[in-house]
Amino acid sequence: MEKTHENVKAFGWAARDTFGVLSPFNFSRRVTGEKDVQFKVVYCGICHTDLHQLKNEWSNSIYPMVPGHEVVGVVTEIGTKVEKFKIGDKVGVGGLVESCRKCENCDNDLENYCRDQIMTYNGVYTDGTTTYGGYSDIMVTNEHYVVHWPENLPMEAAPLLCAGITIYSPLKYFGLDKPGMHIGVVGLGGLGHMAVKFAKVFGTKVTVISTSLSKKDEAIEHLGADSFLVSRDPDQMQGAAGSLDGIIDTVSVIHPLLPLINLLKTRGKLAMLGAPEKPLELPVFPLLLGRKLVAGSFIGGMKETQEMVDFAAKHSITPDVEVVPMDYVNTAFERLLKSNVKYRFVLDIGNTLNKN
Ligand SMILES: [Zn+2]
Ligand SMILES: [Zn+2]
Repeated sequence: MEKTHENVKAFGWAARDTFGVLSPFNFSRRVTGEKDVQFKVVYCGICHTDLHQLKNEWSNSIYPMVPGHEVVGVVTEIGTKVEKFKIGDKVGVGGLVESCRKCENCDNDLENYCRDQIMTYNGVYTDGTTTYGGYSDIMVTNEHYVVHWPENLPMEAAPLLCAGITIYSPLKYFGLDKPGMHIGVVGLGGLGHMAVKFAKVFGTKVTVISTSLSKKDEAIEHLGADSFLVSRDPDQMQGAAGSLDGIIDTVSVIHPLLPLINLLKTRGKLAMLGAPEKPLELPVFPLLLGRKLVAGSFIGGMKETQEMVDFAAKHSITPDVEVVPMDYVNTAFERLLKSNVKYRFVLDIGNTLNKN
């Protein structure tokens, strides 16, 4: 028997099965514990992960499922031992809401790599209940997994909490944030457009690499990329061989790595952020000959997530979003499936989540 909370009524939209269609859902949240923050959700981004989870594409979905891990809101209640927040504060919650707090990862502000981390939704919390995400009216979260939302950062910039940190963390960790470097960005979706924005503010030169020439104007005119490569054009790719210090690869379908590895300078780094379902072919010889690195990265720890939103606020880095009402969510997912969004949907929970 699934455990439920009896005390705090909550309301959101949930999928009931692998069809992934969302509809209104009454449920409950835990009573605000001594280290918990309760907040009213104002905006929640729609991440591509939500689509995979709703349809059980990773075979680990728990129904009913209330998705949402790019959540921004306003604090309505705090526990007696909460130190960082007060009622009325703007806050954000990203991909995780708990971790073990005692492993090497947790000790080093890398809660995102803790083996016992608990995801914001579709997870099982320490009390045995299912976690529900931000497509809902309220959330209750331990303050350690909540960030301060800067006053001058628009609340609709909620996708920073997943798309933003997923980009920021590898750019920093792999040292690809140094002015004068030349960075490649593969794929121009929710993650890719954030990569261009952060990389430009870091002072690096940015080349967008895409299968389709149709994105060139958008990449250069609108997002401010310096150049554009069509990955299917061997001449263009050969002409740019050995020119990049690093590549941020956001593609989540099977794709060849060799053309990307060839673009790297000696000691260049290819950071993989997408999650193709099947293994990719890794040509080792070109790695050896250039001491090149192929690596992965996954969101970021809580300290770094706070640093990222503060940095975004300071430099006015915000995702391009299309704000939509709650009852548009199923249409939004249909459009997301066709990549028909620039570049992220954000649900206007605060104004449009109506119980009736
Ligand atoms: Zn996400
Ligand atoms: Zn841990």
